[in-house]
Amino acid sequence: KTALLTGEEIIATERYFVDVMLQTGQEERAYIAVGSGSITDITRFVSFHTRSDFMAFPTAASVDGYTSAGAPSVIVGFKKTVMCHSPQAVFGDLAVLSAAPQVMTASGFGDMLGKYIALADWQLGHLLWNEPFDAEICRRVQIALQSCVDHAEAIGQASQDGLQALLDGLIESGFCMLDFNGSRPASGSEHQVSHHLEMKLIEQQRPAVLHGAKVGASTVIMAGLYDKLRQMSRAEALERLEEAELTPADVHRQAIRAAYPAIADKVMAEQSKFLAMTEADFDQLKHKIADHWTEIQAIAATVPTPDQVTTWLTQVGGATTLQSLGFSDAEVAEAVRNAHYLRDRFNVDKLGHIIGLSLVSVNHDFKI
Ligand SMILES: [Zn+2]
Repeated sequence: KTALLTGEEIIATERYFVDVMLQTGQEERAYIAVGSGSITDITRFVSFHTRSDFMAFPTAASVDGYTSAGAPSVIVGFKKTVMCHSPQAVFGDLAVLSAAPQVMTASGFGDMLGKYIALADWQLGHLLWNEPFDAEICRRVQIALQSCVDHAEAIGQASQDGLQALLDGLIESGFCMLDFNGSRPASGSEHQVSHHLEMKLIEQQRPAVLHGAKVGASTVIMAGLYDKLRQMSRAEALERLEEAELTPADVHRQAIRAAYPAIADKVMAEQSKFLAMTEADFDQLKHKIADHWTEIQAIAATVPTPDQVTTWLTQVGGATTLQSLGFSDAEVAEAVRNAHYLRDRFNVDKLGHIIGLSLVSVNHDFKI
C-alpha cells in the first residue's frame, strides 16, 4: 500500500501524521519511508505510534537524521523532537541520490561541515564545563567529515562517488549520535543558530528553509569566532579575562524572555547551571580559560577558516550566508546573540560572551 503525501511544503506535523495513519489503515505493517528528512520523520512517528517497524529509503543525502530515534516535529505550532525509534535499515540508491535536487545535496554537505564546529564546541565543553566526552566517537565523526570534504568537488558534481561519500558520512554521524546517546558529537553552536531561526520561521508561519542550508551558513559564522580565538594571543586573552564580569542571572533571564517569550521557562530550565553561576564559579571558570588557553587555541585550530568553509559550500552549490536564505541582518544578529541559551552546553559562543568577542556578519561586525 502506498501513502502519497501532497502539499506545498511537507513537514513533520500532526497534519501529515494523521494523513499517513488514515491512508495506511489499521492492519499490521512495516513502513518504508521513501523521501528525504521530513518524510522519514513522518514515517518514524507513525510507525512508532502504531507499533510497527520501518525502513528508510532516502531520496536525498540532505541530513544526518535518517538513522536517529527522534523525530523532529512541529506539534501545535511548536518545534519538538518526539522520541520514536530508528529504522531497521537504511537503503540508499546512488542513482536516485545523485538525481536529487542539488540544494538537497548541498544541505547534507552543510550539515556535515557543521561538524567542525560541533566537534570543537564539544571539546571546549569538555575542557571548560566538564561535559562528557568520547574520544573514539569524536574521531569517527572527524573521519566521516574528512571524507565528505575530500569529496567536495565530486559532491558538487553530484557524481555517485560523491553522493556515496556524503550519505556514508551522514549515516556515520547519525550512528555516532546513537552511540553517544545524544546529539553532542554532531551538533554545536551552528545547530543552535539554525534551531533559533527555524523556530522563528514556524512562529511567523514563513516557509521552511532546509536544515543543512541553515547549518552550513551558520558554520561560516561560527568558524569566524574560532578564527578570532586562534588569532588571540594569551596576553590579550588574559587582558580580556581580567575585564570580564559575571553577567547577573536577571540580565540573562530578561534576554531569554525577550528572545523566546513562548518557551522562556523551558529555556531558563535548560540554562539553570549557567544562571546559578556565582562570582566564585565565574572566577574559577576564568582561571580555567586562562590556564588552558593553549589547548583552546589548539581546538580552534581544528576549525577551518570562514573563507575555507565558504569555498566548500560554494563548490557544492550551497548557501554561504543566512541572509541569502531570506533572513535579515537583524534576525541573524539576534540568532547569533541568543542561540547559546537554547542548550545546556558550553559552546564557542558562551566563551565569546565571556571574553567579549564580536562576530563578523557579512555586512558588519556586531557584538554577541
Ligand atoms: Zn543537523
